Amino acid sequence: MRYAAFTVDVDRDVNEPRAGTVESWCRGGAAPRYSSTREGLERLVAMLGELGIEGTFFWEGRAAEVLSERMDLKGLMRGHEVAAHGYEHEDLTGESTGVRPSEEWLDAIIGRSLSSVETVFGRRPDGFRCPYQHIDDTVARVLMQRGLLYDSTLFGDVGAGLRPYPLAGGLLEVPLAQCRESDGRKLQSYLWPMHEGRRKPDDYLRLASAHEDGLLVLADHSWHVVESLGGERGEERAEREVGKVKYVLKEMMARGIEFVTVSEHLRSNLPS
Ligand SMILES: [Zn+2]
Repeated sequence: MRYAAFTVDVDRDVNEPRAGTVESWCRGGAAPRYSSTREGLERLVAMLGELGIEGTFFWEGRAAEVLSERMDLKGLMRGHEVAAHGYEHEDLTGESTGVRPSEEWLDAIIGRSLSSVETVFGRRPDGFRCPYQHIDDTVARVLMQRGLLYDSTLFGDVGAGLRPYPLAGGLLEVPLAQCRESDGRKLQSYLWPMHEGRRKPDDYLRLASAHEDGLLVLADHSWHVVESLGGERGEERAEREVGKVKYVLKEMMARGIEFVTVSEHLRSNLPS
């Protein structure tokens, strides 16, 4: 059986690392804002509702706290999986910021990330996705010690069968997907390039065709359906971008791929 999970990183708008600090800022060095992520979240959840798909949402802790002040997040996430994505969208390995948090500091960051999500949604997350896809053995161990069941940060090759595998400390990695195209380009299951006009929706159906076994994890950012990296935004753009995502998901379903949450898939495949 071929399964897929639609995952969304719900984090600050157009986030990027800043040298010298673990916390993320918004593009241009601006303090965190959440207007695009809020609008994109509502649009994506509505679209998933139309298709009857339960998604997996990786929440930045601060985004959950800020948005919950003005909207019923718990209600919005009903039926969907809630997972974690840092508290201040931290670069956990220091790869981009030059600041490498100590193990104790990592534990504090991840602890705060999980408790903020639990406070807002009343559920303890099973899963984590590392901001900027930066993970190493120390981060994986801390995630495991914090009681998480899985991480979904790294890419795996679609042809090899997309199965969870253990990282350092035994934490399960549920990989994102990638394949190599005939022209040599890499096609990856993050929808970034589609929202920047560098990939077409049909490209992702080629990734889906190469998916023969296991779980294909697609990933998107809620702000990205509303705002491009260059700052382009507006009603028309948002409708068009959500429409592209909807097309990809709908076509995958038409090809016999069943959508599940990551946690649901993992729990039903754990050895008893
Ligand atoms: Zn992120």
